[in-house]
Amino acid sequence: MVHERIVAACQRAGRADRPQVIAVTKNQDPAILPALATAGLHCYGENRVEHLRLMHAVAPPNSAFAYIGRVQSRQLTTVATYCTSLHALADIRHVRRLAEACRRLERRLEVFVQVNTSHEAGKAGVEPQGLPAVLDACRTHEDALNVVGLMTMAPDIRGSGDDGTVRRTFADLRTLAETHAVPGLSMGMSTDYEIAIEEGATHLRLGTILFP
Ligand SMILES: *Cc1c(COP(=O)(O)O)cnc(C)c1O
Repeated sequence: MVHERIVAACQRAGRADRPQVIAVTKNQDPAILPALATAGLHCYGENRVEHLRLMHAVAPPNSAFAYIGRVQSRQLTTVATYCTSLHALADIRHVRRLAEACRRLERRLEVFVQVNTSHEAGKAGVEPQGLPAVLDACRTHEDALNVVGLMTMAPDIRGSGDDGTVRRTFADLRTLAETHAVPGLSMGMSTDYEIAIEEGATHLRLGTILFP
């Protein structure tokens, strides 16, 4: 079902490529993992380090974990240890610490910088005008951090039918990515992934819709 809708949205957008689906397993029992792997879903999104550890301990060998939540400085090493990507880098002070953790672990982490393109007060993410500084900081640690994209979260418009605001939030992220030569776009959740695909999402973060 979701797969068909993803394919249809790609066709509407004239896209030959397919976005990668990150199955957001943050509220799921670890016993769900084999079924997800059978369904072809191998990348799992987590937003709490305790649950990340729990899932990682039982995940099939070819699994990958994406950290999608607000991350605290003291959790950076844990994220670098268990995840292949961080989708919510939003604090320039984390860049050097994260890079140092990666070097100690001899790993290179994929990073998405979260940008607040919905302009909601209190929303996570750097403001668009702060993005160049964060990207420059990441690029001085290229050996440890691979900046693959930008990430955003659209405003919750359930019930209001205001697709325009969501589309603008995603389109603004795409423009920023083009301006700063970043290839990836992590955007689109259960309620808005079709709009995100039409606006160029390369990574979808899907929770609820996969676990009805
Ligand atoms: C929970 C979460 C998702 C998934 O949300 P659904 O609406 O359940 O698809 C995606 N991204 C982030 C950052 C989340 O915290």
